Amino acid sequence: MRSGVSKKFLCVLCVLCSSSFLSALDREAFTITKYDLEIRLEPEQQRLGARGKIVLRNDSPQPQKIAALQISSSLNWRAIRASDKALQFVSQPFTSDIDHTGSLSEAIVTLPAEVKPKDTVELEVGYEGVIPLDATRLARVGVPDAIARHTSWDHIGASFTAVRGAGYVAWYPITSESADFSEGNSLFEVTDRLKAREAESEFKAKVTMTRSSGDDVPLVICSPGAAALVEQISRAQHTSADCSWTNLGTVTPTFAMANYQYQTKPPLLEFSLPGHESVAATYLDALDPAAKFVTGWFGKPTAPIAIADLADPHAAPFESGTLLMVSMDDGDTKLAGTNLVHELVHSAFASPRPWVYEGLAHFAEAAYREQQGGRSAALDLLRAHRAAFLDAEKDLPGAQVRDIGPPLATTFDEIYYRSKAAYVWWMLRDMIGDEALKTAIAKYQAGDDKDPKYVQGLVEAASKRDLSWFFDDWVYHDRGLPALRVLAVHPWEDDKPGGGKRAPMVTVTLENSGNVGAEVSFTVKCAGSEVSKRLEVRAKGTATMRVELAEAPIEVVVNDGSVPEQDFGNNVFKISAEPAKPE
Ligand SMILES: [Zn+2]
Repeated sequence: MRSGVSKKFLCVLCVLCSSSFLSALDREAFTITKYDLEIRLEPEQQRLGARGKIVLRNDSPQPQKIAALQISSSLNWRAIRASDKALQFVSQPFTSDIDHTGSLSEAIVTLPAEVKPKDTVELEVGYEGVIPLDATRLARVGVPDAIARHTSWDHIGASFTAVRGAGYVAWYPITSESADFSEGNSLFEVTDRLKAREAESEFKAKVTMTRSSGDDVPLVICSPGAAALVEQISRAQHTSADCSWTNLGTVTPTFAMANYQYQTKPPLLEFSLPGHESVAATYLDALDPAAKFVTGWFGKPTAPIAIADLADPHAAPFESGTLLMVSMDDGDTKLAGTNLVHELVHSAFASPRPWVYEGLAHFAEAAYREQQGGRSAALDLLRAHRAAFLDAEKDLPGAQVRDIGPPLATTFDEIYYRSKAAYVWWMLRDMIGDEALKTAIAKYQAGDDKDPKYVQGLVEAASKRDLSWFFDDWVYHDRGLPALRVLAVHPWEDDKPGGGKRAPMVTVTLENSGNVGAEVSFTVKCAGSEVSKRLEVRAKGTATMRVELAEAPIEVVVNDGSVPEQDFGNNVFKISAEPAKPE
């Protein structure tokens, strides 16, 4: 009993000591602006050994003498040096869900001298350890084991290896505050902040596997950020890949190694596992029509893209830059087509802004689905995106107009720059038409995109429309979603001046009780026909339109699903039988 109490007391003391020590430490003071690493893999032992150089820049307003460097908790720091001199460091576990193990090995490093704000320091680092499958951070928040394993699939293994970077596995050093899955959006905030801080960082890692025996020597691959991935592969007992990006952008440095079968049909490089030949062929067959479609919107895709197989048939797909990792166990040809369209957009079109780069790629998937299966097929694809951001867009009832999330224009949060951005581009296309949007895309130059309003300028010039309200509500702010309903419907029949009846008319008033405006479609349905129109309904506003019909109306439906809303339950208005006379 007594020892239990004192042990508990000691723990409290520990927590107090470390928290007062840690509160003085600004873990995000330094940004790693350059990585130059050599990674050695020993797949049988699940081992990784690393050494190399990193450059730290002090992004805080104060001079810094201490730096906190973190790697996955299954890796250990071996050496940290500056100008050939070993530096003092204390290694400690640091709880954080930014890594699949739910923890990091943190080195608190005493730098040789104070680093002034904006100054840099180069460090040599060495670390090693194992990367086994680990779903601790998901298990901790109650994700069922089976789902967790298909989500958290990163590991080094004898027959298959795939390891994604920070946010999944810190296989290279990072600098971050603790991230917690269970605390609302904390994990995503910390990860997004790291991505934003390292967006312009240069990353180089030579990933090498050497072994003395074995028949099928695996291929090592990584995101094809460099020009020719083909040169990065070799079949020998020694196999390696150069993974390099001059600017990380939204890329998560990732490597994989397996007994891949390799096929190429420019610009596609395809890596499939034995037994998955038929799906591999499906992708190759789907390439030409997908490339033709993408060329029509974005110009000819020429930069290499890669699709790599995953060993677990139920593994969640993953994309980083122009590399897509997806199981080729399932032969859904529609999925192969949209997956290719997405990567081909990246091949044809570059942008430093995540909502432009990824948003347009997701938009193109929906547009391709529309070409193949009609508008409702495209809206089905978009609906899957809506589920991703609905919760994030929930506002308190009666809340003042406020920003409840990050602006789309600058965010590094995937939920927004993928799913919400897909809708924003789709709505813009609905508003200005294919030709105007294609013109804006053709004029877009990544190097000119310095101001968040650059895209608005291109879209307005191409469409000759003032869209400042739309960009304000959807791109520069996040004020939730529109809340649309049919406020009133007024059917009537006009007498012709010379006698006889005119065609029935209906006056439709739409209301938007949300803080975000939208141009939305509505459909007046009759017994044997229907008429669809579009109306601009600003935030907290109403808009009215007269529609001429062929027969008496039955109901009016607002929003075919192309404008995201929280609640679609109030979008239908039933019309009573007796038409009224005009006032
Ligand atoms: Zn993408």
